[in-house]
Amino acid sequence: MTATPDGTPATHTPDLGSQPRTKEGQGPPSLAEMAHQQFVKASKYVNLEPWIVEHLSHPKRTTIASVPVRMDDGSVKAFTAYRCQYSDALGPTKGGIRYHPDVSLDEVIALAAWMTWKCAVAGLPYGGAKGGVVCDPRGFSKGELERLTRRLTVEFINVFGPETDIPAPDVNTTSEMMGWIYDTYSMVKGYHAAGVVTGKPLTLGGSLGRPESTGRGVVDTAVAAAEHLKLDPQRLTAVVQGFGKVGSYAALFLQQKGVRVVGVSDVTGAIYNEKGIDVPKLIEYTKRNGGLIRGYPEAKAWGTDILTAPCDILVPAALENQITAQNAKEIQARIVAEGANGPTTVKADDILHKNNVFVVPDIVANSGGVVVSYFEWVQNANKFAWTEDIVNQRLADTMRTSFRNTVRASESKGVDMRTGAYILALERCGEAIRARGLFP
Ligand code: NAD
Repeated sequence: MTATPDGTPATHTPDLGSQPRTKEGQGPPSLAEMAHQQFVKASKYVNLEPWIVEHLSHPKRTTIASVPVRMDDGSVKAFTAYRCQYSDALGPTKGGIRYHPDVSLDEVIALAAWMTWKCAVAGLPYGGAKGGVVCDPRGFSKGELERLTRRLTVEFINVFGPETDIPAPDVNTTSEMMGWIYDTYSMVKGYHAAGVVTGKPLTLGGSLGRPESTGRGVVDTAVAAAEHLKLDPQRLTAVVQGFGKVGSYAALFLQQKGVRVVGVSDVTGAIYNEKGIDVPKLIEYTKRNGGLIRGYPEAKAWGTDILTAPCDILVPAALENQITAQNAKEIQARIVAEGANGPTTVKADDILHKNNVFVVPDIVANSGGVVVSYFEWVQNANKFAWTEDIVNQRLADTMRTSFRNTVRASESKGVDMRTGAYILALERCGEAIRARGLFP
């Protein structure tokens, strides 16, 4: 049982429906419980009234839909879809949609909670949400993906909206799919609703700089962490786990900052070259190789866990639950900049903290994507597009401010960076809830 800030025991855990709950060491931990434990740990440092803690401990609304899709062979398959709007204390809810066989209610709730804290730390006028469809899109044709995405949009037509809930790309979802959501929503509603989704193609009102933004922001915070520790980025090495939308750009921008990228992995395995991997060359290679790094000739295959390979900066940018109690003590990096959401379990976090590994938590490090999504939404509302330089400059300013505020909060309370970031988020959400009051 956990305790609330006023010391009374909390009798609730997040609403997980019928999801199984597991403990670390007995299979993957429940992500929603992990998110809740992080919340409880930080809430002890924030002076929130018990009713506000109660309010913020529960996801506001979770919608579950069955999405029937006609497949190319004429059969119909129904896929389960979730959308959790965790909190709208600060504004319309915001968060990606992922297509993955492991999507679950538990995962979606945790990711929506993390989006809530992420938007709050970055000072955005958004609440947090996340969506997912339980499917393995790798075998799908483009037509099947389009029919799935359009039907999904209609099933959530009264959830999504430019002033209510705004999706974006996430694992296995793309800019093209965001275009289909925009088109379907606009067709059904009868007006052009560019602000209903972000991460759109440029021609539909997408923002310059959006595809690179999460990776760029991760690197902004990794470099800020190096400077904070008085380390020269030009003398550091990095390993990046995951080479998708976040990992590939993170690797590229690390190299541009003079960091030697020595290890990279994706779902097909890992490669390592202590002399450095030429990231643009690797990106070109993956374009010719089905998006995969497998077989890249200018590095050797890395047989064991890439997270524990020698490096100074580690960027987990694949999936959650990667740094666990099992491998945390083997991690050699001095800085972990979390590109993925929830890559570090609660026990692993304690081990890293004890070992003096400086963690830039996900809700700070990977917030670049939602920050530029916000810029996209603002541009859509104003019917005016910014230059890429303005986008990148404002992104860099926001990332630096979030990093500095998090360091300040963690140092003033003597806590780790994750708890520091949560303190900022809870203060901002708490203040908004207090000012709004409780309806009715
Ligand atoms: P993506 O689908 O583009 O890429 C995922 C990458 O991870 C792929 O290279 C895949 O091969 C690799 N991968 C999958 N399983 C792996 C494993 N077991 N070991 C090593 N690599 C593995 O997804 P993405 O958009 O880059 O998202 C990655 C993470 O970043 C997710 O946790 C996502 O929630 C988070 N995130 C994404 C954004 C964004 O703007 N896309 C923003 C914030 C956070």
